[in-house]
Amino acid sequence: MANAEIGVIGGSGFYSFLEDVTEVEVETPYGPPSDSLFLGEIAGRQVAFLPRHGRSHGLAPHRINYRANLWALRSVGVKQVLGPCAVGGLRPEFGPGTLLVPDQLVDRTKARTQTFYDGLPLPNGSTSKVVHISLADPYCPEGRRTTLAAARGRDWEPVDGGTLVVIEGPRFSTRAESRWHAAMGWSVVGMTGHPEAVLARELGLCYTSMTLVTDLDAGAETGEGVSHEEVLKVFASNVDRLRTVLFDAVGGLQASETRNCLCAHALDGIDTGIELP
Ligand SMILES: [Zn+2]
Repeated sequence: MANAEIGVIGGSGFYSFLEDVTEVEVETPYGPPSDSLFLGEIAGRQVAFLPRHGRSHGLAPHRINYRANLWALRSVGVKQVLGPCAVGGLRPEFGPGTLLVPDQLVDRTKARTQTFYDGLPLPNGSTSKVVHISLADPYCPEGRRTTLAAARGRDWEPVDGGTLVVIEGPRFSTRAESRWHAAMGWSVVGMTGHPEAVLARELGLCYTSMTLVTDLDAGAETGEGVSHEEVLKVFASNVDRLRTVLFDAVGGLQASETRNCLCAHALDGIDTGIELP
């Protein structure tokens, strides 16, 4: 069985040039993940990459099988997940090229399955209990610290903390929605950070979000509003340094077998009713 310790959910730009990448197809009780897992080694750590939207980018954010993605990663041994993603900035000072490592999350999605513990039977006949996990602090404090240090080590001063609000998409926000998000004090807006972080916690995995601002959201800018083309352009011009920081972060993550963060203890004393991979 293939083995990895760290999972990276992000585009093919993060792993396509690695040498010795092994492609592994994984089945899950929730159906297929977004794509195969691509296993490789970075800084002596075994890493499983999963293209969030599929390798041809054919999956819209609301159609991603988030449960299958997290389950698949855990089933190859992953204990810590890094989730880089593109976001819109909700404040003028968070312009394109800003790297923000959020410490809070707001869910504004509408129709996504966001739990493994819904009391429904799995294909193998076992039935999950209804479990309520704590998500007061949705991101791994160790992973956040490591990611921030990795960015600073590459002279890319990150924004330490802030709230990521996740919308259903695939459309961008109206100006009114965007102004509302900003008025609430939230920092950046994306379409994939939820339920990814929630499901990682439900499996006792560490999850760290690293957001790259590709545009100012409609309420924070004064022009025509955000376009998909603009987003792709800014992402492409930052993907190299984002990958560098990501790889440094992978190398700096805590040893998985000695984890003692809140994520590692998320399921302590809880009977989930189902066997986790
Ligand atoms: Zn953790």
